[in-house]
Amino acid sequence: MLYVISQRAMELESEGKKIIKFNVGDPDQPTPREIIEAAVEAMKRGKTKYSFYAGENALREKLASIHNVSAENVIIIPGSKWAIFSIIYLLLKNGGNVIIPTPYWTAYELAAKSLGAETRFLKTNMESNWKIDTEKLRNLIDSKTRLIMVNNPNNPTSKIIDNEVLEEIVEIANDNDIPIMSDEVYRDLSFVKTKSILDFSGNHILINSFSKTFAMTGWRIGYIVTGEKLAGKMMKLNQMTFTNVPVFIQEAALKALELKQKIADEIKKIYQQRADSTYKILSKTELEFTKPDCPFYFFPKYSNLDSEKFAFDLLDNGVAVTPGTAFGDYREYFRIALTMPEEEIKLGLEKICEALE
Ligand code: PMP
Repeated sequence: MLYVISQRAMELESEGKKIIKFNVGDPDQPTPREIIEAAVEAMKRGKTKYSFYAGENALREKLASIHNVSAENVIIIPGSKWAIFSIIYLLLKNGGNVIIPTPYWTAYELAAKSLGAETRFLKTNMESNWKIDTEKLRNLIDSKTRLIMVNNPNNPTSKIIDNEVLEEIVEIANDNDIPIMSDEVYRDLSFVKTKSILDFSGNHILINSFSKTFAMTGWRIGYIVTGEKLAGKMMKLNQMTFTNVPVFIQEAALKALELKQKIADEIKKIYQQRADSTYKILSKTELEFTKPDCPFYFFPKYSNLDSEKFAFDLLDNGVAVTPGTAFGDYREYFRIALTMPEEEIKLGLEKICEALE
């Protein structure tokens, strides 16, 4: 559904219609100039050739120092979406099941399904503040469970996992010798501090991206941090698929890391303001929702809504939202992304409220 709406919104735009796009988590800010310049400079220096499958040493070492691991644990990949697909592939190609809390980011389910992996969903709900029930997690695990996926902070709810809950999840995973894949692409922008999976013991997998923190969605670069065995397998997978992320993009990513604090702080400030004003506007409606812990998304509920029909009707009115069914069994919900200037957000919210009347 996420991709159906996106495709339709783009078609309408290409026909010349103005669409307020609440449907994509793509920061509206341009990629910072210094990052672009670093890529151009690298290209001019001839960094346009094949290179190391695991990524450039300088970038791996910089990330290793940030995460307090060794460079062998870091593998550079073309976006964290690739990590989701390839980790499911590497860990479940001989069968088994993967546990995915819901609501999940759409690609989790699509990747698992397309690879023929058995999915076990762990439902969370708004009424419990989207908290993962660790007792339910325990009950879903069996001898064939090969992976637990978490998204912290979460897309679409924008909620972090409380440190105590995360600690329990890790304990359960460690007791059962199951790796956790923790998708932390929103963590550096989070309004609320949260622990990383790497702060815990165990053989787990961090996936991260340059897309959101640095407004670099189109550059296609992310990374994983994991134990040397899985890192080695990932490197071999890179070797037989895309070879390497272009070196000039890796050099731009290195520049991004040097400027991380400044860039992340600026982006965060903008989104905090957008989130605050959206919160105020939505609070005056009959929509139910939780306060976001990180930028980009609200995931409101409207009783008895058929969000698929709602999303299609709304698109005809020039507003694109993503129906809750894109994230699991959440038909009464829809997701809005605050990836546009505040004035446009306000206009879009007005149209949403009118449509709900
Ligand atoms: N994980 C989550 C939770 C996301 O929302 C997204 C992008 N919407 C990604 C991963 C993928 O990011 P990228 O492939 O651009 O690194």
